[in-house]
Amino acid sequence: MGLKRVGERGGKGNGSYFAIIGISTMNVKPLVKLIVPQSMVPTVKRIYDNVNALSTLIKKNLHQRYLSVRLDTNNRCNLRCKYCYTLSHEREPFKIMTIDEFKKIADELFPQSYNVYLSCAWEPLVNKHFVEYIDIAARYSLPSLNFITNGVLFNDEIIRASIKAPVHQIDVSIDADNKNSYEAICGRDFFDRVIANLRRISELKKEHHSVYPRVGIVFVNRDVETSQKQDLKSCHREVKTD
Ligand code: SF4
Repeated sequence: MGLKRVGERGGKGNGSYFAIIGISTMNVKPLVKLIVPQSMVPTVKRIYDNVNALSTLIKKNLHQRYLSVRLDTNNRCNLRCKYCYTLSHEREPFKIMTIDEFKKIADELFPQSYNVYLSCAWEPLVNKHFVEYIDIAARYSLPSLNFITNGVLFNDEIIRASIKAPVHQIDVSIDADNKNSYEAICGRDFFDRVIANLRRISELKKEHHSVYPRVGIVFVNRDVETSQKQDLKSCHREVKTD
């Protein structure tokens, strides 16, 4: 859906996630799914792609920010969620995008970007120097700077850097509302730690009088999405996320 990839060294299916950079002008996929009959989706998609390309061209010529960028700075995750496609790529050598590589990409793309995600397929906080990447991205005054994480490896340094940047949105993928489900889905017993980390984000935001980063809780597992909506709401209230 309006997604082109540049600077790609891997992707789903070819087994080498290292740095994935997706570029798009906007994502209307959920809306299309909701209102368009399945048989019409290919036609709507073609029209959308053409409109999207035209809109990108116009923005580019008007010197407006026209890119949405997603990238990974490493190719590892600390969890083993049972549905995750990354499980089939675990044997590949661990790689980290160097700061110099990141700076080069940032310099080339971020001045034209209205939206940057510092994560795509893998877990960003596995990169022990992630704070430096946040700091670099913050130099470009991005209208929207975000990342998605499983929330296990947060520490005060990362949270404070996210507040300072600011990172506008952090989506935390939990996929369960209790320890047992979490362990069954994610393969590790980190539920309490993730909840404690969410509370810590809330505390530090208050301490810094900051509305950022806004925090979303993400449920990827479709069974959980449908069967535990009420539990999700109470969990959300409990950790006082946005
Ligand atoms: S946390 Fe995300 S990347 Fe890691 S195993 Fe689970 S679904 Fe995959």
